[in-house]
Amino acid sequence: MQVCSNNQQMLDVVSTWKVQGKTIAFVPTMGGLHAGHLSLVHQAKANADKVVVSIFVNPTQFGKDEDFDNYPKTLEQDLTQLEACQVDAVFTPSKEQIYPNGFKSHLKAGSLSQGLCSKSRPGHFDGVVQVVHRLFEIITPDVAIFGQKDYQQLLVIRQMVEALSLPISILSGDIVREQSGLAMSTRNQYLSGDQKELALKLYQVLIQLQQEILKTQDLNVAIHNSKAILSQDFKIEYLSVLDANTLKSITDNTSKIAILCAVFLRSTRLIDNIIFKKG
Ligand code: AMP
Repeated sequence: MQVCSNNQQMLDVVSTWKVQGKTIAFVPTMGGLHAGHLSLVHQAKANADKVVVSIFVNPTQFGKDEDFDNYPKTLEQDLTQLEACQVDAVFTPSKEQIYPNGFKSHLKAGSLSQGLCSKSRPGHFDGVVQVVHRLFEIITPDVAIFGQKDYQQLLVIRQMVEALSLPISILSGDIVREQSGLAMSTRNQYLSGDQKELALKLYQVLIQLQQEILKTQDLNVAIHNSKAILSQDFKIEYLSVLDANTLKSITDNTSKIAILCAVFLRSTRLIDNIIFKKG
C-alpha cells in the first residue's frame, strides 16, 4: 500500500496506473475509520482495478464553533485497517497540499444543499464540494463511493458531478450500524457508554416512523409523535420526511421516501436516515 502525503506522489501513482489502463475507485474520508468506511472500501474494490482512500479533515466544511480541532485523529490505526483491506494507495495530504498558498475554490454547492444540514451548518456543503472537487482533480477516479449515512452530501456530490459533467460514477454505500442499530460514525467516539445506550433510540424511532408512513398514517401526526419521543433524550435539529430524489415535499410522483434527521445528544451531533420505496 502506497501512502502519499503530497500531491506529486499521488499524481505519480495515478499516472502510472493510467498508463497501465487501470481503473480507479476513490473513497474520500476524514479518518477515524470504522466498519462503515471499510464497507465503502470493499465496494470500491469490487468496482475498479485500483482503490485510493483519502484521509483529510477538511477545515472548510467545519463551522467556527464545530469540532475541527478535536476531530478524532487515528492515522496509524487507519493505515493498519486499510492495509488489511489491501487498499492500493492512501492519500494523506496536508492543508497546504489541498489549498496551496491559501488558494480556495469558489465552487458552490447546488440546490440540493439547501435546508436540512445547511440550516445549522451554513457553508458546510460548499466546503464539501470544494474539497471533493479538489481531490477528484488530483486522483481523477473513474468511480467514487459515498455513504448513504450522509445522504444530503451524497445528493450534493451527485449534483456537482452532473453539473460539471465530470466523468466519474458516484456510487452509494449502505449505512453500516452497530448491533444495537446505532449508525457507525467517527463522532460516536465522543459518546459515553450511557449515551451510546440512549443514542440507539434514534434509529428505533426512525424505523417506527417508517412503519407508520407505510401504514399511510397522517404524515404530520406521525412526525409529530416521533419528535415527541425523540425530544425526551435529544435536542432535535430536524426530522424531515421528503422525496428522496429532490429533498422536497412528497408528491404523487415521489417514488422513494427519505426520513432524515439530525439531533444532539448532549454536545454530540448525530445524523441518521432511512430511504425506502413509497408503499
Ligand atoms: P467521513 O469520514 O465521516 O467524512 O465519512 C467518509 C465516508 O464514509 C462518507 O461517504 C460517509 O457517508 C461514509 N460513512 C460514514 N459513516 C458510515 C456508515 N456508518 N456506513 C457507511 N458509510 C459511512
